Amino acid sequence: MELNATELWSRILESARTGLPEQAYETWLGSTRAVSVSDLELWVEVPSDFHQEMIEDRFLPALDEVTRQLLGRPLAIRFRPGSPDRSAFPPVEVDAPAVQTPAPHPPSSRPPTPQAADHDGGDPAKGPLNHRYTFDRFVVGNNNQLAAAACHAVAVQPARMYNPLFLYGGVGLGKTHLMHAIGNRILEDAAGSRIMYVSSERFVNELVNSIQTGSTAEFRRRYRDLDLLLVDDVHFLEGKDRTQEEFFHTFNALYDAQKQIILTSDRPPKEIPGLEDRLVSRFEWGLVADIKPPDYETRVAILRKKAEDDGLTLEHEVIDFIADACKASVRELEGAVIKLLAYSSLTHQEINVELARTALSGMLKSENEAAPRIPRTVTPISIRAKVAERYGVRPDALASKRRTKNLTVPRQVAMFLIKELLDTPLVQIGEVFGGRDHSTVIHSIRKVEDQLEEDPDFRSTVQSLRGELTQG
Ligand code: ADP
Ligand code: MG
Repeated sequence: MELNATELWSRILESARTGLPEQAYETWLGSTRAVSVSDLELWVEVPSDFHQEMIEDRFLPALDEVTRQLLGRPLAIRFRPGSPDRSAFPPVEVDAPAVQTPAPHPPSSRPPTPQAADHDGGDPAKGPLNHRYTFDRFVVGNNNQLAAAACHAVAVQPARMYNPLFLYGGVGLGKTHLMHAIGNRILEDAAGSRIMYVSSERFVNELVNSIQTGSTAEFRRRYRDLDLLLVDDVHFLEGKDRTQEEFFHTFNALYDAQKQIILTSDRPPKEIPGLEDRLVSRFEWGLVADIKPPDYETRVAILRKKAEDDGLTLEHEVIDFIADACKASVRELEGAVIKLLAYSSLTHQEINVELARTALSGMLKSENEAAPRIPRTVTPISIRAKVAERYGVRPDALASKRRTKNLTVPRQVAMFLIKELLDTPLVQIGEVFGGRDHSTVIHSIRKVEDQLEEDPDFRSTVQSLRGELTQG
């Protein structure tokens, strides 16, 4: 049982993807291919020298961070230009016997050029749909029954039953998966459907770009000329007035044309602070369904399913052990399996409960110590808001480029608390503060650590913020 290079690289990319701008991801990482892995290095081929340079400059720290999280230890990622003939790159699954056979829409078959991310109206499947996220691969349990049933209904009869469909729940519980599953199913049934999947952050960025370049008409056309619009993580629209306005009109245009809209968020519409009432009410027009963390039986079922899909044999005891240890989310369950596989193949040991205990020890400890103290409502955004409030500045000013002292201090404190309380990856923290890069985030956190040592007033401010956040 080996975690081969391809499998490992695709897991790394999948995790890294959430923290990167979609367009950058598509352009630079979408057409890479892992070629080998050893205890120390993972070798990846890229289309050109230029790709290598760009990836090493812009993405390597993020990729390293994700890899460390997945494996629980560093592994050097090395790039080299591969065959110039792009068609010579096999689809990702080809040398990966441990992975299920390719689904009809492998994302790796997208062209590698920057135009790939540049949606022109002629391309039916506009946003990238993840072909792994299908209904087949989604385990239905008590925690997600209503949401899954609603998604099925929408996939079979778009814009008939529930429009919009609003899914909400904590991180890593399957919202994005279900959303893509609907898109994938609709494409299977009607290959020409015009589908757009977009994170609300990307919606914001594209709108801002279109305003800057005077191409708002084109922006509107792109978002209204659709059969299905999937907007992920709409809580990021919080407090962005101009975007909400635009989104409101997009919503109306699609709705009036009887096109299906699906939205996700980490909380129900009413509880998204800074969301205009008219959007809240529209989001509630259709069905609002929540997803809860999986119970024990569902966790076991998910682990069995993952093992089966990936062609692994995991003993009952190992599955029970992981299901018992990882309670918070499905993403965590998956992370545990990957860590275990990596550990087993890198140390050349068979997987059993003993090995699982060793491989996952770091994960279990941090979970038991840290997780129960932090209320679920605490997110990077809510921490940013809390800190901004304490320092008397606007939350979005912390995401701006301005570097006056009244902003830099709360910005650094917020980054520090997000890392400390939620252990959010540095790249994602950077995103919350207007796309700052991970080295800036590290620098900020160090600054706070230093000042905590030196300055008792500062220390008590941070302590009281921490206290308020952890008590909910
Ligand atoms: P969210 O969008 O809610 O943060 P995701 O949809 O990204 O969560 O899910 C996290 C990971 O867990 C994905 O790899 C997804 O495939 C997997 N997953 C979540 N729920 C399920 C489920 N019920 N069955 C199988 N896999 C799941
Ligand atoms: Mg998601």
